[in-house]
Amino acid sequence: MKRDNKILIDVLILHKNNNMRAFIILFTITVLLGCKKETVKPISMKEDVVVLASDSLMGRETGTAYERKAAEYIANRFESIGLLPKGDNGEYFQDFNFKPSTNPHQQPEIVDSVAGDGMLVGRNVIGYLDNKAETTLVIGAHYDHLGMGGQGSLHRGEAAIHNGADDNASGVAMVIQLASRLIEGPKQNNYLFIAFSGEEMGLLGSNYFTKNSTVPLDNINYMINLDMVGRLNEEETLAVHGVGTSPLFKQTLFANNDQELVIKEFESGVGPSDQTSFYINDIPVLAFFTGQHEDYHKPSDDWNTLNYEGMERITNYIMNIINDLDNDGELAFRKTKDESEEVPRFKVGLGVVPDYLFTGEGMRIDGVSEGRTAQKAGLLKGDIVKKLDTATVKDMMSYMKALATYENGDKCMVTIDRDGKLLEIEVEF
Ligand SMILES: [Zn+2]
Repeated sequence: MKRDNKILIDVLILHKNNNMRAFIILFTITVLLGCKKETVKPISMKEDVVVLASDSLMGRETGTAYERKAAEYIANRFESIGLLPKGDNGEYFQDFNFKPSTNPHQQPEIVDSVAGDGMLVGRNVIGYLDNKAETTLVIGAHYDHLGMGGQGSLHRGEAAIHNGADDNASGVAMVIQLASRLIEGPKQNNYLFIAFSGEEMGLLGSNYFTKNSTVPLDNINYMINLDMVGRLNEEETLAVHGVGTSPLFKQTLFANNDQELVIKEFESGVGPSDQTSFYINDIPVLAFFTGQHEDYHKPSDDWNTLNYEGMERITNYIMNIINDLDNDGELAFRKTKDESEEVPRFKVGLGVVPDYLFTGEGMRIDGVSEGRTAQKAGLLKGDIVKKLDTATVKDMMSYMKALATYENGDKCMVTIDRDGKLLEIEVEF
């Protein structure tokens, strides 16, 4: 600012006797040059979250005009950082058609034909940092959310905007932040940054991307997914999924933790977010997650509940990991425990939010949805599901597998651990 004022004064002295027109022209040139030279203060992750989670974007539901507005914002951010467009047709965007599901237990489907009757269009946003390397690291986060609520919402009552600050403006802001740092970063990989859409409806955008990748899928070294990274808690627990998908991950995660976060590792490459789409294509994945909370999938998941300092530390941590792995060439892929299993398909649900950070035996309930199966039967937050009929529930995967065997209308005896006591409660799906 100071510099601009000085130039302005010079102009005034030089041209005070000239006519007004010359003055205006020179003044304009000076201001333009001044603006160009001035270093613009980088946009913070908080500022990105505030924009993405604002009411004007109406909850960023896939297939709506608000999803488009959010995509536009992200593409502009990618461009301003200096990323190349790497969607389709030389643009930042990659569109996919899908048929919205009318059955709450069925996922929408991606369809090949052009948008027509009853079909909607979703939009991924893709930016590229080309280091002319042989391999590419993909860093992704979904930007879509639940709009005014709908099937995925845990909110009861009047429709309200679901701003999705933690889920997942936080992840998108971190992708942008990592991109701006990697411009000056290591050069052994290329970097592909993707903001996925259609995640909340069933990983549609990432699924479409892996089938229509804009870089050769074989050259993708590994994938980092960021979904809900804005609520680092007091214990400073960061969950990392996919640790088993490459032999190098475990040691790398622990060797680079100068932020002294409490790392909870999960082996499996299959999980409830976009990393799954890459894992099933034999690509090593690391997915970061700060955990469930009571604002999950509710209108109260808003910008003022996030831990921005925590996001800063997670970003530093991930940068350490990227720097370290950059010297290791192409990483080996390893299938994790559930290797041959598809993600189970459910016809029914209990209507609970599982506690994904729970590391004990069983599936701990982190919240129950109003009016759904679990609540009707009297299951409570904090209950640990041990068995569905005779099937033992050891973890999330065995819970999902057991649940996938039930049909609508079936009865099931659920064994739970409540405050150390085992109880049997009958539910009807
Ligand atoms: Zn979500």
